[in-house]
Formats: sequence, C-alpha cells, structure tokens
Amino acid sequence: MAKRVTGPEIEKLIQLLAKVPGLGPRSARRAALHLIKKKDQLLGPLSNAMGEAYDKVKICSHCGNVDTVDPCTVCTDERRDQSVIIVVEDVSDLWALERAGALNAAYHVLGGTLSPLDGVGPDDLNIRGLIERVTAGGIRELIIAVNATVEGQTTAHYITDQLSGLDVKITRLAHGVPVGGELDYLDEGTLQAALRARTAI
Ligand SMILES: [Zn+2]
Repeated sequence: MAKRVTGPEIEKLIQLLAKVPGLGPRSARRAALHLIKKKDQLLGPLSNAMGEAYDKVKICSHCGNVDTVDPCTVCTDERRDQSVIIVVEDVSDLWALERAGALNAAYHVLGGTLSPLDGVGPDDLNIRGLIERVTAGGIRELIIAVNATVEGQTTAHYITDQLSGLDVKITRLAHGVPVGGELDYLDEGTLQAALRARTAI
C-alpha cells in the first residue's frame, strides 16, 4: 500500500471530489490542492455555498427543475408562455436551452429516458406529472426536446402515445445539419434526417 502523504480529512476531500463528473482521481487531487492553497478565497466560500445549497435545494413538484423554491422560478414566471412546455431529460438540458434563449416557455424535466435494458420504465420517470399537467388543460404545445438517441426517441414515442386524443400539439426538435456544419463530415443518419426535415427557403 502506498504511504500516506496527507491526513484523512484531505484524503476524504480528494475522494469526494473524484466522484464529481468530469473529475477523476488526478484532477481531484489537483482541485483539492488548489482549494487548500486558496483556503480563504475559495475553500471557505465554496464550503459555505455547498452548505447553503444542501439546506435550500428543492426539486420543483410541478416540473422537476431544481431550485430553492417550490414551485420553481420557471413555473411561477408570468413572463413565460406557460401554455408551451418544453420536455427535457435532465436539468442540464433545461439550462442549455435557456442559454440558447430561443423560446420563452415552461419546462418539464423527465429525469432520464426510458431504457428497458437498464430497467428504467415509465414509473421511474416524471411522465405521470407531465400527463397530469396536460390533462389539467391550458397547454397549447408540448415540445419534446429529448436527446437524439434510441432511448430519447423511445421516450418521445411513449409520451406521444400517452397523450393521444388530448387537445395538445406535440412537436419535437428538428434533427439535421448543425449550425456551421459541413455535409461531408456528417454521418448518414444525420444527413437522412436533415433531408427528411428539409424546409422551404
Ligand atoms: Zn417548476
């Protein structure tokens, strides 16, 4: 066994940091050392911010977003068109779409995608909540903005099936050529989707 170079407290900090997505053991050691060197400027404020987040973070019971209030800031924002719901897999997708700033709508976070192979069924996702929101009325359009993966598309079909017969327009994101993309570099699936989803100029 390798000899210890730090006390158990710092070892624990490194081990926990190594569990953060994007950080492995090596980056975790570097991050921990950086935090320790910047004890007052970084480690202290970060520790406080984490404690505060731990105490205050809530999952919105309406849409599944994370916030410090329930219902969340997005759900109670009267400047948004609450009759349009963008359905996403994860909060990170909600943040990405908000960064793009293309639409001023409400959201619904599913918390994943259907994946029978991994044992993820409809009850493991926030699908029932979505159906309840649509059934309650006042929803004009549902934009299914899930990933362009097999699981994402399976989930989109399932939701569409569940909502058939309800008076709501269901759309999905276009698949195709990325902005700034060159045709020669695209895979055949993307090119086929782009041709099928062609629009008039
Ligand atoms: Zn919400």
